[in-house]
Amino acid sequence: RDAIPADEAEAAARAELLRRAIRYHDERYYMEDNPEVSDAEYDALVRELMAIEARFPALVTPDSPTQRVGGQPAAAFAKVRHDTPMLSLANAYSPEEMYEFDRRVRQVLGDDVEYVCELKIDGLAVSLRYEGGVLVRGATRGDGETGEDITANLRTVRNVPLRLRDPVTVEVRGEAYMPKHAFVRLNQQREQAGEPLFANPRNAAAGSLRQLDPEVARSRGLAVFIYMVVDPPAGIATHAEALDWAAAQGLPTNPERRTFRRMEDVMAHIQAWAERRHDLPYATDGMVVKVNRLDDQARLGATAKSPRWAVAYKYAAEQAETVLREVVWSV
Ligand code: NAD
Repeated sequence: RDAIPADEAEAAARAELLRRAIRYHDERYYMEDNPEVSDAEYDALVRELMAIEARFPALVTPDSPTQRVGGQPAAAFAKVRHDTPMLSLANAYSPEEMYEFDRRVRQVLGDDVEYVCELKIDGLAVSLRYEGGVLVRGATRGDGETGEDITANLRTVRNVPLRLRDPVTVEVRGEAYMPKHAFVRLNQQREQAGEPLFANPRNAAAGSLRQLDPEVARSRGLAVFIYMVVDPPAGIATHAEALDWAAAQGLPTNPERRTFRRMEDVMAHIQAWAERRHDLPYATDGMVVKVNRLDDQARLGATAKSPRWAVAYKYAAEQAETVLREVVWSV
């Protein structure tokens, strides 16, 4: 369904219906880690709502799912306030949308632009805070402003260092994920135990990190890739340098990172990974493209929901993903 009603009253009714459906699915996905529909089906609802809101801006409400990030933090965990909000990413589904992003970036920055490409790991965003080099807090994104304190669970993740090389105070962010082999093993165990299966590694990772017993989280074989340093140390001018610094501190970063100056080269890189990514031991659902220079990022700024200096390209296979597909790749 993409035909936008021409009549505003009709559009308003459709928008309300879509918001209700999206809120329902957000709750299944973010609160229960148990989605009822595929991401492609969910994304189609969001895109239709965005199209209606773009056509009739008066219909945008502040609480619309298009203006908000993620879900509410669960009551079972202490709340963590994110001093720097944890945003989502704008999505692109076609080369045209990527060139459109490039055009908007160059409108602000001129032609001297550098992009970093990173695989989009299909897990959940976490924040790690180190004080004097020691891990003191781990949190989920939650609604972006307030997340859940899952420090005890994140401490059990084997590649999360409990101490950095230097006694620095810093917050880093990254993706917690469940490797494919751990996901297959977990669902096999659950099937034997007659327990409901996880729909995908992302929901399995989220469900594992939101367990009240850290021993359960420990048994799930989770891992983390750090993709951002919040307020990197002085002297660091680019996102790539910030990640190199994080790696030198002992934090796990993804090795498949590349920088390019032209969107043509970014697109060639994205195409090159379209099939290759399936050979990785962890699930990916796209490529994240970020403006590299930190001062350029600051100039571009952010909307309430996502930075203007980054975009997530979603692979076509993911756009049309079905539950069946998950079954196929897990064997
Ligand atoms: P998103 O997954 O589209 O993108 C933002 C996230 O990407 C970040 O928060 C971060 O966690 C992650 N990420 C992974 N690698 C990264 C990297 N290298 N750099 C930066 N970020 C990286 O947005 P979202 O707000 O987390 O969630 C929306 C997604 O959830 C959509 O794909 C949607 O389909 C799905 N969803 C599905 C349902 C459903 O019912 N099936 C419901 C709600 C949401």
